[in-house]
Amino acid sequence: MSTLLAELANVLGEQGMLTTPDDCSRFEQGARYGNGKTLAVLRPDSHEQVLNILNLCGQHQQPIVLQGANTGLVAASTPDGSGRYLVLSLERLRKHIEIDVDNRSVVVDAGVTLQELNEALEPHGLFFPIDLGANPSIGGMIAANTGGARLIKYGDVRQNLLGLRAVIAGEPAQELDMLSGLRKNNTGPDLKQLFVGSSGAYGIITRAVLQVHRMPQQSATALVVPRDQAAVLQLLRVLERDCSEFLSAFEGISGAALAAVVKHIPSITNPFAPEPLPEYCVLIELSSAANKDVTGIDLEAVLMRCMEELFGDVIENAIVGRGKDLWRIRHAISEALRHEGKMIAFDISMPRSSLVTFRAQALALMAERFAWIKVMDFGHWADGGAHFNMIWPKDAEVAYDVAIVEAIRTLIYDLVVNGFQGSFSAEHGVGPYNLAYYQRYTSAPAQQLAGRLQTLLDPQRLLGLTWFGPAQSAR
Ligand SMILES: Cc1cc2nc3c(=O)[nH]c(=O)nc-3n(C[C@H](O)[C@H](O)[C@H](O)COP(=O)(O)OP(=O)(O)OC[C@H]3O[C@@H](n4cnc5c(N)ncnc54)[C@H](O)[C@@H]3O)c2cc1C
Repeated sequence: MSTLLAELANVLGEQGMLTTPDDCSRFEQGARYGNGKTLAVLRPDSHEQVLNILNLCGQHQQPIVLQGANTGLVAASTPDGSGRYLVLSLERLRKHIEIDVDNRSVVVDAGVTLQELNEALEPHGLFFPIDLGANPSIGGMIAANTGGARLIKYGDVRQNLLGLRAVIAGEPAQELDMLSGLRKNNTGPDLKQLFVGSSGAYGIITRAVLQVHRMPQQSATALVVPRDQAAVLQLLRVLERDCSEFLSAFEGISGAALAAVVKHIPSITNPFAPEPLPEYCVLIELSSAANKDVTGIDLEAVLMRCMEELFGDVIENAIVGRGKDLWRIRHAISEALRHEGKMIAFDISMPRSSLVTFRAQALALMAERFAWIKVMDFGHWADGGAHFNMIWPKDAEVAYDVAIVEAIRTLIYDLVVNGFQGSFSAEHGVGPYNLAYYQRYTSAPAQQLAGRLQTLLDPQRLLGLTWFGPAQSAR
């Protein structure tokens, strides 16, 4: 090992390698899950260094965990407790941001963060529209295929990825250059897609070409109270019929989640006061990058018209305007829930048409079997995503029990996957945190193919903690 570390130090220089426990500690703890020990942290600042690292690690059969901004939520960016992994952090690979305004695209190093990218794009009136409450790296966003609150309008990372460059393991390691800015290119299988959602197990993404978008010139926001659950889908249908491409967010918030925000976030009060908190509400956003003076379309007026004429008795109450305040409520939910007790988080999805039935069945199951657990859910209804989050209250009569939490997870995932053809991980990926569920719900042929691809791309299994092949052939 000391020979390998000396060789790596030679390649990376003093700045490029961390070995003391103090220096390494921030790379060993994930944002929510994942907490292990690393041998050392490698911090290359060039593509050549990445290639050299993979060659040296291959020669010494040394496994590596890839890490971007370490905001992932499935424990895939931090080492396990064995102490045998190196962390390869891409945080210093962030020199290159090359904007092509006419192509509406950008070539960007994998370690550049979303915020840095958007700061560079802003003077050109452009932005990368994946919207979330964290500041991830571009490489990590590709490997996790990040979604976000405005997926209905802009899609996920996959839909905005034009090209990439990746280093794959082998003897020697190879650079796969697919840095094309093309929107149309049918010259064979689209190999860059192999790396999207790969949890860092198929190769090291070093650079990407992204499609970027015109920044909105106007937006209009409303928080509406639907008459009942079925009315949520009716609202969505009306908005898509009459406001079509303007719809940029449609976020459901349960009364329990809203109550937690009002209770625990001091600067936020009941937006519907003097009315009591509703049982359910929906945050609607319309936005447009078109010039209002040219099109003559005023989105706030459009939204008002929806309330007054189109929604009819489908809604019971509504607030129009105050966009920033309303989004603050949405973004405060996760923090507020933590004050209520231990969170049991879910990141599920299903066809939108099933969300009402799923929610009714899941709430009934929880009330019947685990009555002391509080469901405080919210979700991206427009893309079928649901954070069916629950809280094990601090003062519950039943003491917190990991086995019960696992039973609840399996109950809900069985309902989502088997009952509604949904997904147990809509946005956050697989990683060690979700591996058991991947094995439970992914068909045997799909696991075999994913494993065969992984073996082809990484014959020595150097990269990452996630094995996509069948469980019995795990390392
Ligand atoms: C507060 C908060 C809110 C969030 N909200 C959302 C949300 O709304 N939607 C959503 O989808 N996610 C969300 N996330 C999850 C997370 O931000 C995303 O998964 C993010 O894209 C991860 O990027 P990262 O740079 O932090 O990657 P990391 O966490 O460092 O790594 C994630 C995965 O990518 C791999 N990886 C990293 N860099 C590379 C590379 N260069 N090449 C190959 N593999 C690599 C890692 O090995 C790991 O498997 C949220 C997280 C937090 C903390």
